[in-house]
Amino acid sequence: MTRTGSCLCGDITYEIEGDQLAVAVCHCEHCQRQSGGAFSTNFVAHGSQLTISGDIKTYEDKGRTGDAVYVLRKFCGNCGSPIVSELMEPEGVVAIKVGTLDDTSDITPDVQAWCDDKQSWVNLEGINAMDRE
Ligand SMILES: [Zn+2]
Ligand SMILES: [Zn+2]
Repeated sequence: MTRTGSCLCGDITYEIEGDQLAVAVCHCEHCQRQSGGAFSTNFVAHGSQLTISGDIKTYEDKGRTGDAVYVLRKFCGNCGSPIVSELMEPEGVVAIKVGTLDDTSDITPDVQAWCDDKQSWVNLEGINAMDRE
């Protein structure tokens, strides 16, 4: 199936072909800062499944160490909506922000990551925790 999505202002639109590898909640501090929310929810897929239209901006997130680029955070430069994060590791994997999908009716998280950064009130019981360095 083909999914569609867009940023808040509509300058950026995208299509995803096929199914997700997972739907992952990320509690990491950088996702909290970028989204302004308590966590991000991501449609994880191969980059080849995603086609973006519009002039998207990229922020090179160097992660906690500040050494190497850890993830490319792509967002709309007009309205600021985060659209997708391209992971360096594993390479070729993208995390599309579920809140920008046009239809989220069948989206349920399978996994949650970076639980050490989780805000104290957030309780996602029943969703597998995947902790990683
Ligand atoms: Zn926009
Ligand atoms: Zn994150």
